[in-house]
Amino acid sequence: MMTPLPGAPHLAYAHGRLSLDGLDLQQLGKAFGTPLYVYSAQAMRAAARAYQAALVGRPHLLCYAMKANSNLAVLQTFAQLGLGFDIVSGGELQRVLAAGGDPSKVVFSGVGKTRAEMQAALRHGVRCFNVESQAELEVLSEVAQHEGRPARVSLRVNPDVDAGTHPYISTGLKGNKFGVAHDRALALYAQARALKGLEVVGIDCHIGSQITDIAPYLDALDRVLDLVEAIEAEGTALHHLDLGGGLGITYTDEQPPSAQALVGAMLQRIDARGHGHRELLLEPGRSLVGNAGVLLTEVLYLKTAQADEVAQGGRHFCVVDAAMNDLMRPAMYQAWMGIVECQQAPADAPRRTWDVVGPVCESGDWLGKDRELAVKAGDTLAVLSAGAYGMTMSSNYNTRGRAAEVMIDSGRAHLVREREQPEQLFAGERLIG
Ligand SMILES: *Cc1c(COP(=O)(O)O)cnc(C)c1O
Repeated sequence: MMTPLPGAPHLAYAHGRLSLDGLDLQQLGKAFGTPLYVYSAQAMRAAARAYQAALVGRPHLLCYAMKANSNLAVLQTFAQLGLGFDIVSGGELQRVLAAGGDPSKVVFSGVGKTRAEMQAALRHGVRCFNVESQAELEVLSEVAQHEGRPARVSLRVNPDVDAGTHPYISTGLKGNKFGVAHDRALALYAQARALKGLEVVGIDCHIGSQITDIAPYLDALDRVLDLVEAIEAEGTALHHLDLGGGLGITYTDEQPPSAQALVGAMLQRIDARGHGHRELLLEPGRSLVGNAGVLLTEVLYLKTAQADEVAQGGRHFCVVDAAMNDLMRPAMYQAWMGIVECQQAPADAPRRTWDVVGPVCESGDWLGKDRELAVKAGDTLAVLSAGAYGMTMSSNYNTRGRAAEVMIDSGRAHLVREREQPEQLFAGERLIG
């Protein structure tokens, strides 16, 4: 009897044991060690194909926003499906190249591109720079002229809509650092057209992350289409519309629209307003990888409070071997992530409400609070929906090597990143004298 988990059809319990694409997770944790990220290539492909199916028959390019998970095997998986990439640094461009991705399908976003990064991107022929300010536009024009290669540009406009998400992951409001203000975009397009070395090809926006409603997307789209019409009326033709990423996933009880529903609603609005001929670019990140991965961690110690301590606010701690340096989302955004046992205890086993915490010396180092679990030292837990903004946000705080990563494909587990060893962490450091 297979019981799939909500929001994660590729994860299931069979006889009380949790498996991902049919592979037993506790066994993977013991074989490769913990903390361990495990991803399903099949789940990633299914997520990408849902967007592709919704875009069939349209000129389009899906650019995976690789800051969500930039492991080379993840990039390879998407490149093989024909996806391009949304990058935010020169380092990410190098990863695309190392994974066999096509630089002519790369769009380069970010408020702080350096001249060196622009130069590298021009030399590799990236498809488009998503420019975020007048100052950047001017520098890009200089670099492009110096390189003797035209830079294709799109301006990232800030549509000033509220994506209704966490303030740290909302990017489309006036007070955010991202993009150019809607009411300045027209003048900036005129400048872009006049500057040497630039070729205006499109317009883009990205309003936030973990968005679970269609409405803010349609509001932003309307604002962008208003601008497109005004820009073209002034004589600058725009080839593509890039509507960013941001679609949410299920962590607990969120019910985000499917990719089909979101894209369908956008296309309908685009057609209704007479813009159906334009190429559509999308930059999904989280929704392509988030539900495809888990973080496995082993229970090290149980630290229970006495009844009188509990009465005074004491808590029960389940100390695990993964920490905030491995998975930053709970500490950084107070994000709720599901935590489940990889091997379910018998129904009559004692259960308690635990704070699941890591070994890092910070009170903010927790993965989940108030979790009801039947656990003992040595058990393996899985943190769910950890495929996005997990490994990529990890650090070496407390001189902890980063976790290993495994990708399951066609029923086989592939080690796609080795566990980092302590001597690697200080290999670049020098003693003085
Ligand atoms: C982060 C980012 C994305 C992807 O956002 P998700 O919420 O992961 O889909 C897309 N575009 C830009 C410019 C981004 O910075």
